[in-house]
Amino acid sequence: MTGSHGSGRKTALEDRPAIDPPAWFTEQANQADPSVYDTFEREWPACWEQAADLLEWEESYDTVLDDEDGPPFEWFAGGTLNASYNCIDRHLPERKNQLALIWEGHGESRTYTYRELSREVNAVAAALRERGVEEDDVVTIYLPMVPELPVVMLACVRLGVVHNVVFAGFSSGALAERMERTGSELLVTCDGYYRRGSAVAQKNKADNARIAVEQDVSVVVLDRLGRDVHLGKDYYDYATLRDAHDGETVDPVPRDAGDTLFRIYTSGTTGEPKAVDHTTGGYLSHVAWTSESVLDIKPTDTYWCSADIGWITGHSYIVYGPLALGTTTVLYNGTPDHPEKDRLWDIVERYAVDVFYTAPTAIRAFMKWGEEYPARHDLSSLRLLGTVGEPIDERAWQWYREHIGGGDAPVVDTWWQTETGAILVATLPGVDAMKPGAAGKPLPGIQTEVVDPAGEPVDRGEAGELVVTRPWPGMPRALRTGEDWGKSLVHGDEWRYYPEDGATVDGDGYVTFLGRIDDAINVAGRRFSTMELESAIAGVEGVAETAVVGADHATTGTAVYAYVSPEGNCAEADLEKRIEAAVERAIGSVATPEAVIFTPDLPKTRSGKVMRRLLTAVANGDELGDTSALRNPEILGELQSATPDR
Ligand code: ATP
Ligand code: MG
Repeated sequence: MTGSHGSGRKTALEDRPAIDPPAWFTEQANQADPSVYDTFEREWPACWEQAADLLEWEESYDTVLDDEDGPPFEWFAGGTLNASYNCIDRHLPERKNQLALIWEGHGESRTYTYRELSREVNAVAAALRERGVEEDDVVTIYLPMVPELPVVMLACVRLGVVHNVVFAGFSSGALAERMERTGSELLVTCDGYYRRGSAVAQKNKADNARIAVEQDVSVVVLDRLGRDVHLGKDYYDYATLRDAHDGETVDPVPRDAGDTLFRIYTSGTTGEPKAVDHTTGGYLSHVAWTSESVLDIKPTDTYWCSADIGWITGHSYIVYGPLALGTTTVLYNGTPDHPEKDRLWDIVERYAVDVFYTAPTAIRAFMKWGEEYPARHDLSSLRLLGTVGEPIDERAWQWYREHIGGGDAPVVDTWWQTETGAILVATLPGVDAMKPGAAGKPLPGIQTEVVDPAGEPVDRGEAGELVVTRPWPGMPRALRTGEDWGKSLVHGDEWRYYPEDGATVDGDGYVTFLGRIDDAINVAGRRFSTMELESAIAGVEGVAETAVVGADHATTGTAVYAYVSPEGNCAEADLEKRIEAAVERAIGSVATPEAVIFTPDLPKTRSGKVMRRLLTAVANGDELGDTSALRNPEILGELQSATPDR
């Protein structure tokens, strides 16, 4: 089994110290019952009723999970519900005057109580219906982080219409492709928006996409810039439509649990972004349950996830989870370093945010900028911190807890994917100790294994590939139906899902993620995960961010190339030596980087993930492949010239 994950080799990442959550946290935690794992195990799959019970069903379901003989899997069959009703209407009797949304824009802010949100969503739903949109149609939404984005999403699902949100930064080509694939005939966009203090045009990209697709498309345009925009035939002004229906109510359309709620795309980190369809009942149950048990969200909280709604994280944990639980959710438009590098901490202080959820890429940027920015603000309202999107190394985890969490707020690292819909692996902060650098155990009801390439379990502490061995409520349509997913879903006669992530499990059942299977580097017959190497390098003083890739090498087969972004953009003379020493210490000289390449930034997706496949291509002088998801194309030339010729 040489040259693969699961080569019987322990990783350099074992035996992490465990940190107990503070008593003040567990005493108030939504989920503080240590028997929750046993209960879920004993009662699986009926245990997921706990999740479904967080929602209000129009028609209750007959079975929790219908999985006779494997797929198709039907969650909550027979049940009907409406997501907009669950996120708005049912909260009105108790908290109509509580804030549902807080929006921080560019030098402006706006809030909506649940009653106000209800009024907006009903008016927009009425307007969409008048435009001829019907149940099961697909509406494409191409908006930046403005309150109208969740409003239009909720208006769609109120009508049983499937929304297809396309991240606002995507090109007209990507938009056209996504519209064409869904046959979407209505597009909601805006004239433009502000970013770093200047206006960015949006409508012209929408115009180009509209012309490029086969179907006829009507366009609803939100005026964000206050300029005179000419709206031609089949174009409608958002405010005019909304105002014409202000005060109207639209009955929420009951949807079958298995009906599609929305379509979303993966981040495009490893290849072309993939379309994923999430369903109404299982997805919403799973998202609500994890919002409650993992993120500890309470209706009285002010909760903030700083992701963009254009990604699954924003769908699940800015919009659907928090609103299903009736909390106040914050959205912000812009960038964390404009007008100043303390923008986020200013928002946390002003709104006394209770729970904050972000990505390792953001945390690494905060580290790069320095602790003085959070130190300017009172962050003592923060009770819990979360992270998602990439593995977080121990140093970044500790920095986050120390400088944002006041040294004692629990930090939950949450592992999941666009495909999983909601969190599958994380530490339940009211129940379990945290292990910095390890994501945690599979959640109650979730079953995973770490296997070798033959699909056989590896020993504890050994590296392998994570597989999910049981269905989960938030699984997308293609997995439910057992459609081909590009990778085999079965092993022998067992159903399995392969997320394509490397992992290792310790003796307590905690999973540490090691990076993408395809990014692992094979040096002289030994296979190293990116996380193992990058953790060693990231622990070096002066390193802000790093990514390692393999480059073809005449004698060892592959050599390690380490791309390093130094703190303050300035590498001290001995930094390369210290990086090499750290890798030798943690792993051994076999993994010593052949080249350490300093760079001001790494190539990243629009959602902020490091695109190692592009670095690999640069290191090997190969073609770059699909770069549609790349946020900072200007860095490529710089990386190419900094990479040594081989
Ligand atoms: P694509 O599938 O298009 O290549 P992507 O995998 O980055 O893009 P997402 O669904 O946004 O698209 O990201 C899911 C992936 O992100 C996971 O498979 C995993 O590799 C990584 N990830 C997310 N959260 C964590 C985490 N907490 N720890 C480690 N890795 C994580
Ligand atoms: Mg993926």
